[in-house]
Amino acid sequence: MSLLEVSGLEAGYETGQILFGIDLAIEEGEAVGLLGRNGAGKTTTMRAIMGADLPRIIDGSIRYRDAELLDRKSYDRADQGISFVPEERQLFPRLTVTENVHIAASAAEDPLPAEEMFDLFPELDEMRDRHAKNMSGGEQQMLAIARALVSNPDLMLLDEPCEGLAPQIVERLEDVVTRINDERGVTVLIVEQNVATAMAVADRHYILDEGRIVEEVTTDRLREDDELRQRHLGV
Ligand code: ATP
Repeated sequence: MSLLEVSGLEAGYETGQILFGIDLAIEEGEAVGLLGRNGAGKTTTMRAIMGADLPRIIDGSIRYRDAELLDRKSYDRADQGISFVPEERQLFPRLTVTENVHIAASAAEDPLPAEEMFDLFPELDEMRDRHAKNMSGGEQQMLAIARALVSNPDLMLLDEPCEGLAPQIVERLEDVVTRINDERGVTVLIVEQNVATAMAVADRHYILDEGRIVEEVTTDRLREDDELRQRHLGV
């Protein structure tokens, strides 16, 4: 049994259908990439899994630990161990690092002690009293991931965590996500436009094109196959 299994998922918005039958499966402990060009439907897939900013579900199923997720509310999905780091980060800008973390921990059934989280994020440890709005983009992204981590998830969904950030920060975030996966055993599904980041973090990838999964590839194959990257990702 896979930790997460999406079958025949069709979904969209008022404006029209976006996903036309997504099938993917993630085993416990894996780190998996979800790749594709702009508008391919990556974020919509993440939202459907989390039940957030709900796209209209037309058909299909999303099973988590062999139970259907689609009839559950977003907060139920979070209680079951799924956490989502959305592209917009959704921090509380006027609250400090500590307060942002505390709110996430108090909403969780079995939170990770904040000190364990700060071990992974020494840079946040040093700015516990800083307001989120006064942090750099990279620091805010770290806080968004830290906040997801204190909810002690089994599955972490990351939507383009490295978008728009400087190369050193991207490297640091890749390292953090890898450690969350390797050392804490959190299963990771990461959406990335930046293929290098996806390859640094994940072992295997699904490629989405116009709302359909067109390839499932290992990192090695993705690295070697220039034509495949060019065809589906334009890089
Ligand atoms: P990107 O990297 O641009 O975020 P993506 O692969 O994540 O791409 P989605 O964000 O899932 O793609 O968007 C797929 C399509 O759905 C796009 O055409 C987008 O304009 C549309 N879309 C996204 N959110 C909404 C919404 N709330 N209402 C209507 N259409 C939407």
